[in-house]
Amino acid sequence: MASVTSFLLAQDKIDAIINAKEAERIERVLSSDDMQGRKVFTPGIDRAADFIASEFAKSKLSFLGNAKSYLQEFIMSRAKIKSVSGSLDGEALNENNIAINTTSAAINITSLKDYPVFMVKPGDDFSKVVFPIMEAEKNAVILVDTSFTRRFRGMQRFGGNAKFSTTQSQVLILTTNMNPSRIDLHIQNDLTEQHLKNVVGVIPGKSKKDEYVIFSGHYDHLGIGRPDAKGDSIYNGANDDAAGTTGVIMLANYFSQMKNNERTLIFVAFTGEESGGFGSRYFSKQMDPDKVIAMFNIEMIGTESKWGKNSAYITGYDKTDMGAILQKNLEGTAFTFYPDPYPSQNLFFRSDNATLAEQGVPAHTISTSKMDSEPNYHKQSDQIETLDMDNMAMIIKSLALSSRSIVNGKDAPTRVKKDSQ
Ligand SMILES: [Zn+2]
Repeated sequence: MASVTSFLLAQDKIDAIINAKEAERIERVLSSDDMQGRKVFTPGIDRAADFIASEFAKSKLSFLGNAKSYLQEFIMSRAKIKSVSGSLDGEALNENNIAINTTSAAINITSLKDYPVFMVKPGDDFSKVVFPIMEAEKNAVILVDTSFTRRFRGMQRFGGNAKFSTTQSQVLILTTNMNPSRIDLHIQNDLTEQHLKNVVGVIPGKSKKDEYVIFSGHYDHLGIGRPDAKGDSIYNGANDDAAGTTGVIMLANYFSQMKNNERTLIFVAFTGEESGGFGSRYFSKQMDPDKVIAMFNIEMIGTESKWGKNSAYITGYDKTDMGAILQKNLEGTAFTFYPDPYPSQNLFFRSDNATLAEQGVPAHTISTSKMDSEPNYHKQSDQIETLDMDNMAMIIKSLALSSRSIVNGKDAPTRVKKDSQ
C-alpha cells in the first residue's frame, strides 16, 4: 500500500506538470494569429506542426515505428478534368455530362465490360445508390438519370476534392439511356498532389509494448476568412481544437515524467479534421486495430460543459465500458464523465475516433462542447480569451488520472461491436 506521503507527492507532481499556466502557455502559441488559423496547406499549420513536434521532443518521446521524425507525412491527390471525349451509344460525352471520383491522370473505357455498370433510375434514392459505390472505392460506371441533374452537379464539384491516391475510379454519366450497348470514353485529368502531416510521438510500454493506448486531438482548423464585425478574419480555433491538442501535449509530458506506463502510449495531433478527417483516417489505417486497447480523442475541452465545471462527456459512452473504467478511477474526486448528451448529432462516428471505432477499438471522443449553444464555434471569435484555463487543466488532469488503469495494463475496455452503427 502506498504511504500517505507518496500519494501526496504524486498529487504534487501531477499539479506541477498539469496546471492552468502550462495549458495557457501551449494554447497561446497554437491559437495565436501567427498560426493563421492552422488551415491545411498553409505555412501557419506547418508552424503549428513544428511547435507540437518541439514539445514532443522536450518530453523525449520516441518516433512511431521506423519513422525518422515526429511528422507523419502523407500525400493526397486532387484531380481536375482537363478533357473528355467519347460517346455512349452515339450520345456525345463531354465535361457537361461526366463526373469523376478519381486520382488517375487518365481514364479510358472502351467497353461496358471494362467497368461494372450501375444505374440511378428515375425515382431511385440517389444517395443510397451512389454513396456505397463511392465508399467501396472500386472501378465503376454509374449511369445517372437526368432527373438527378442537380445531384449530379454536386458530384461534379465533389470530384475535385482531395483524396488518398488510388488506382480505382468511379465515373458518373448524366443520361436518359439506362440500357446502353456501347461506350467509348476518354478522360484526361490534371493532378495536384498535396502534402499533409500528422504529428506523432510515442512512449514505449515497459512490459506490454504491443498494446497501444492512443491520446489524440486535431491541430488543424479553418484558416483565414472574411473579417467579422470586429474586423477579425483569423479563425484561431482556440477551443476547436487547439484545446485538445494542448491536452495531448500535456499528457505526453506527464506520462513521460511518470515513467509508469506498461502499455505503449501514442500521442497524435491530427491534420485535416476540418476538411474530411484525412489525418485520423491515414493514421488509423497504419495501425493494427487489434493492438489498440483504447483511444482517447480530445475535442474542444476549453469551455464548461452543460453540467458546469469538473465534467466532460464521452461520445459513444454505452458502446464500451471505457467510460465506467474512467469514472471508477476518479472515485473520490469531484469530476464526472457523462454520456454524450447530443446523440442525434452522431458525434461518435463524426470525429477522429471514428475510423478505429468502426474496427472495434474502444475509441471515444472526450469533449465539453455544448453542441447546441457554443457561441464561438467555427467563428473568428474562438479565441483564447473565451477559454477557461483552470477548468481545461482540470479535465486534462482528470484524463491523466482516469486513464491510469488502462495505461498501466490492468484494465482493457470492452470492444465496440462492429455492427453497432
Ligand atoms: Zn471544427
